[in-house]
Amino acid sequence: MSIRLIPTRYSTRSSFTSSLKTFTQSQVIIYRQFHDTPNTQNTATQQSFQNDPNHMIPTNVPKGVNLTTPTPASPLSVSAGLKHPGKKVAPNEFLKAFNNKELISFLMMGLCTLNSATLKLCIKLFPYVPMAVIKALVYRIYCGGETLDEVKQAGLRLHERGINNMMISLTIEACDGNDNVDPEYIIDETVKSINGILEPHTKKMIETCDKNINDIPSGYVALKPTGFVKNAANVLKNYNNGEEAAFAELVAKASRACEAVYEANQRLAKQYPDRTAPFVVAVIDAEKYELQPGVYELQRQLYKKFNKLNEPCYVVGTLQMYLSDSASLLAKEERLAQENNYRIGLKLVRGAYIHSEKDRATIIHKTKQDTDDNYNAGITYCIDSILNQKDKESTIGHLVVASHNADSLKLASTKVYTQENATNINKSNVVLGQLLGMADHITYDLIKNYQIGNVIKYVPWGPPLETKQYLLRRLEENGDTVRNDNGWPLVKATFNTLMGRLFNKTSA
Ligand SMILES: Cc1cc2nc3c(=O)[nH]c(=O)nc-3n(C[C@H](O)[C@H](O)[C@H](O)COP(=O)(O)OP(=O)(O)OC[C@H]3O[C@@H](n4cnc5c(N)ncnc54)[C@H](O)[C@@H]3O)c2cc1C
Repeated sequence: MSIRLIPTRYSTRSSFTSSLKTFTQSQVIIYRQFHDTPNTQNTATQQSFQNDPNHMIPTNVPKGVNLTTPTPASPLSVSAGLKHPGKKVAPNEFLKAFNNKELISFLMMGLCTLNSATLKLCIKLFPYVPMAVIKALVYRIYCGGETLDEVKQAGLRLHERGINNMMISLTIEACDGNDNVDPEYIIDETVKSINGILEPHTKKMIETCDKNINDIPSGYVALKPTGFVKNAANVLKNYNNGEEAAFAELVAKASRACEAVYEANQRLAKQYPDRTAPFVVAVIDAEKYELQPGVYELQRQLYKKFNKLNEPCYVVGTLQMYLSDSASLLAKEERLAQENNYRIGLKLVRGAYIHSEKDRATIIHKTKQDTDDNYNAGITYCIDSILNQKDKESTIGHLVVASHNADSLKLASTKVYTQENATNINKSNVVLGQLLGMADHITYDLIKNYQIGNVIKYVPWGPPLETKQYLLRRLEENGDTVRNDNGWPLVKATFNTLMGRLFNKTSA
């Protein structure tokens, strides 16, 4: 079996796809070992890799080293360049940060994901479950709240867990049509959330955290293109085919949010001139495949308007790496930016719509492994691009590694947090993001055990009814690859934590 992968470095930086090579399965394993090899070995291996005129995969990885399998010590445990305290990490330590109500919600999630039959049943029943029940049982672990004040509080609670910023998203789903969508309300609330949550929260984090100004992650506002115009699905599908006026309206709405972001950055930059990364960033979320052509066009127009050459990237677009055409799309975005003199910021995700895509067989990678390889190749390429620049001259200027996959997060951390990059100011332009309520043990491990500061959580907020589709996708996703950490182990862990609290209280 052969798998497409990109090497770490290229002879030219002009194209992502032209650098793709075909490697065998065993070469892929060596490539992984290259990334998982301890620092000294990495440097030697990397040098031999760079010296190789054909950019072949290095072969001098020590025999018998199998660092691809995490040891039980921690979800991310590898020695590769990451500073780990060496102590055994109690697997359920992360649960201590949650209150009893939240633990009960995790217990419910564990019960829903006990096995595929219970999960399928829960997914089927979910649309009929009354909102009051959803709100009482799961809303609180996946969503930041209903009001600006509640989201601010959610930010402070994240800070207590060592997570110093967030990606807030007013989640009103409309890709399947939604009569409740009022674009004016959505944009007004979004602007209020930038000025009322993101800017003050970022300022507070800068002033509260005992860290270098560049070690505080940026704050993000996620913009859902389907919320900015009535009948958005039709507008995005036909943005250049009869819906030009409505599409222009959509772009204007999104631009209002980006302007608020731009102005917040100007204000904060006056107070903290030493910061190199943006303070706050607007992120365009990716939607179902059939809507994406319009979303890509929206991203391009916003990049052009807000991401000027030699300035931080204030707008970040999303690429879904489960799409089989995503590698060439990344190359295309980079080329368009170079031709039109703007920079691009990227959030790379695997993609959340695999369960609902009609043409899954043709548009999505054939296997999970192909998606994983493509994702890891994508983040490798972007990180190299960002780290190797001197002063804001790279076309790709900012990256959010939006994933819960321990291997991908490990790969990104290993590349960014090296001794060599200790003083590289560009590293604050690479941020790792997870969804609120997902992969909390991995977020915990990154922060507490590897001391990686650039970690944020995606915090959806808004009326519970409107977040129902979002919650359904989380339920489906919980049954995918993260199942190892759900089901019975989660039930046991939350139950033990709750019992531990009860027991301590009783004995006190
Ligand atoms: C901060 C943040 C922002 C996000 N924003 C968006 C967004 O704008 N748009 C969006 O679509 N998603 C978004 N997501 C969701 C994201 O796409 C999912 O969380 C992600 O796909 C789950 O994958 P993972 O990287 O955590 O890794 P894993 O859990 O290892 O991978 C699971 C993913 O692999 C892929 N996959 C699974 N099986 C197969 C298969 N048989 N063949 C091919 N591929 C397969 C699917 O994408 C699946 O979701 C966001 C996530 C985060 C953390």
